Amino acid sequence: MRVILLAILSMLCCLAGGCENPLEIDRETEIEIGRQGAADLEAEYGVVTNAQMQQRLDSIGQRVAAVSGEPSLPWTFKILKSDEVNAVALPGGFIYATKGMMLYVKNDDQLAGVMAHEVVHADHHHAKSAIEEHMTQALLVELITQKSSDSVRQAAAIALDLDLRQGYREKEYEADRFGTEYAFRAGYRANGLRGLLESMYEDKGDPARITWLLQSHPPLSKRIERLEELIPQLTGKPAGST
Ligand SMILES: [Zn+2]
Repeated sequence: MRVILLAILSMLCCLAGGCENPLEIDRETEIEIGRQGAADLEAEYGVVTNAQMQQRLDSIGQRVAAVSGEPSLPWTFKILKSDEVNAVALPGGFIYATKGMMLYVKNDDQLAGVMAHEVVHADHHHAKSAIEEHMTQALLVELITQKSSDSVRQAAAIALDLDLRQGYREKEYEADRFGTEYAFRAGYRANGLRGLLESMYEDKGDPARITWLLQSHPPLSKRIERLEELIPQLTGKPAGST
């Protein structure tokens, strides 16, 4: 049954002129997965409704998303009720900062930097690629052809696991690099993300609270080093003086 389905799917894709990867998740499905993941995340943590805090996050996030590669995604930026210093990106543009992160950042440049890092995970489709890689072929076919609630839920679970536990490995550097560029293009100082990483590096004695970057991302020192090289290219000034 699985083989027949795949064959039919592959044939249809070829007829439509796209033979390269018949098992690619389309944009609509990607957004649906993100929406499911967002519902799961909000049910688990709850959302902070403080209007001032929410408005600050949303206006910074939307400014950054507007200069991203996918400005037309249904971008939403919300705050999770958690004291951990963390941030999460789901496919389709559902982005979260924890309350802990909101209180931890020293200024708007740092918040723009971390939100831009998450925006890159979404607009470069990092979770989508990982889902295509990790899902069983049968379930992936079910997701693409039927969008069954079970397959959408399982895809969302893969995305959440990447966000909260595994991280995106080498793609974290990509998110740092493009995120710093997006934040700068949106009008923030280029050293926001770097400054945040440095604070976290100094605070790494508190690993229970500083979860973003420590558990799931590459070493902070390496990420800071790479940004030191990038910032002068963007601003023409040394990394510390932007
Ligand atoms: Zn990341």
